[in-house]
Amino acid sequence: MEYEPVIGLEIHAQLLTRSKIFCGCSTTFGAGPNTHTCPVCLGMPGVLPVLNRSVVEFTMKMALATHCTIAPRSEFARKNYFYPDLPKGYQISQYELPLARNGWVDIETEKGTKRIRIHRIHVEEDAGKLIHDEHRSTSYVDFNRTGVPLMEIVTEPDLHSSEDAATFLRALREILRYLDICDGNMEEGSLRCDANISLRPAGTSGLGVKTELKNMNSFKNVQKALDFEIRRQRALLETNEPVVQETRLWDTGRSVTLSMRGKEEAHDYRYFPDPDLVPVEVDQAWIDEVRASLPELPEARRERFLKDYGLPAYDAQVLTSSKALANYFETVVQAFPQPKIVSNWIMSELLRELNRNDGEIERCPVAPGSMVELLHLLDTGVVSGKIAKAVFEEMYATGRGAREIVEAKGLTQVRDEGTIEAIIDEVLAENPKEVELYRGGREKLFGFFVGQVMRKSKGKANPGLVNEALRKKLE
Ligand code: ADP
Ligand code: ZN
Ligand code: MG
Repeated sequence: MEYEPVIGLEIHAQLLTRSKIFCGCSTTFGAGPNTHTCPVCLGMPGVLPVLNRSVVEFTMKMALATHCTIAPRSEFARKNYFYPDLPKGYQISQYELPLARNGWVDIETEKGTKRIRIHRIHVEEDAGKLIHDEHRSTSYVDFNRTGVPLMEIVTEPDLHSSEDAATFLRALREILRYLDICDGNMEEGSLRCDANISLRPAGTSGLGVKTELKNMNSFKNVQKALDFEIRRQRALLETNEPVVQETRLWDTGRSVTLSMRGKEEAHDYRYFPDPDLVPVEVDQAWIDEVRASLPELPEARRERFLKDYGLPAYDAQVLTSSKALANYFETVVQAFPQPKIVSNWIMSELLRELNRNDGEIERCPVAPGSMVELLHLLDTGVVSGKIAKAVFEEMYATGRGAREIVEAKGLTQVRDEGTIEAIIDEVLAENPKEVELYRGGREKLFGFFVGQVMRKSKGKANPGLVNEALRKKLE
């Protein structure tokens, strides 16, 4: 029997507010343990939480960007459980009345556009961090992260392959980053994804028993964990064994999922409305204000890149994958209005250097202005294409300007016919046998001569002029 995977994701995004969700403590990462804490986020008795308005606004931005309906009234609830990283003994979250519901994100897949529905988006507070590996017999707890705002996005079970799940996650991350509300760093945990997965006989529409996968800290691991789980569940179903509803942890080292605990139910958490916080009321004026503040989103920008610059879909997709990269492209194109050439340079040379150096476009050593300078040198024939690429590498490595490098290294293209002819004469004199063969009809040798001349000129001779002059000499 063929089985179809059914996948729904629960994504936690750490919001980039300056202070925590219910107190004024800083959210800055990397401070000394427990230095960003106060009686509120440490859960001391008798203190009261006060909601950070930016948390609501950031979440409203995401809700609008994903076509959700924002609730005119939503409510905080206590999710009760004991763990040493949770000083209050409960997490403030939203339960029955989340801030937003019923949206969608369209993703591009090999089989065309697919619409993935968003079930709900709510806000909650993060817990602290336990450190187990400093000392053999002791665990430490750092409460700096306690009360850092999280936004949880829950999808409908609309995904049907591990690739689509990864594609969706990337699309979601792009939106978060365009909105400047989350840095999207999965490795550092500011974007976390739990994946729910079940199988069903292909062609049916019911839902099978699911497992929930945790602890995947990269796109690749999300995909790998799902692939493993699809195989594991299929093997069970094929031998008529039950799939147990449970939470499983992805073990990166061994590339397997391992049972962590039985599935907890909502009633285990004794949810109830938090009496310390008033409900959140959002009126239309506030929604309109937030909507007006939204930047152009990845999908719209992609469309515009196709239309305004006549770029292929693939180029538009790559160039708009981050706001910073898209801005870089548009800045260069403004000064050098040949979009496809700019796109080629960014997609091949620039992205290659960035990848090779683990660099980020935000801190690219080649500023857009320097890229324009280089493209002008190339466009006006001052340097050849090959030299331009070498100059670019040097620009990336040293941060120096294109013209500066070309002048310092004497890389200007040779266009002087006398000089080129002199080189050709040398090459022909050094290769009498080839000249004879060529004149006897071995026309393929022409390329050999061009190569020799280019080599002798260290790549600086203008190829057009070399071709022309060679033909004349060899007649
Ligand atoms: P739970 O009660 O376990 O929290 P929810 O109904 O709240 O389950 O759904 C949590 C996530 O799991 C959602 O993303 C949802 O789309 C997904 N999901 C629910 N049922 C299934 C299923 N049978 N198979 C795969 N995913 C599912
Ligand atoms: Zn605090
Ligand atoms: Mg649930």
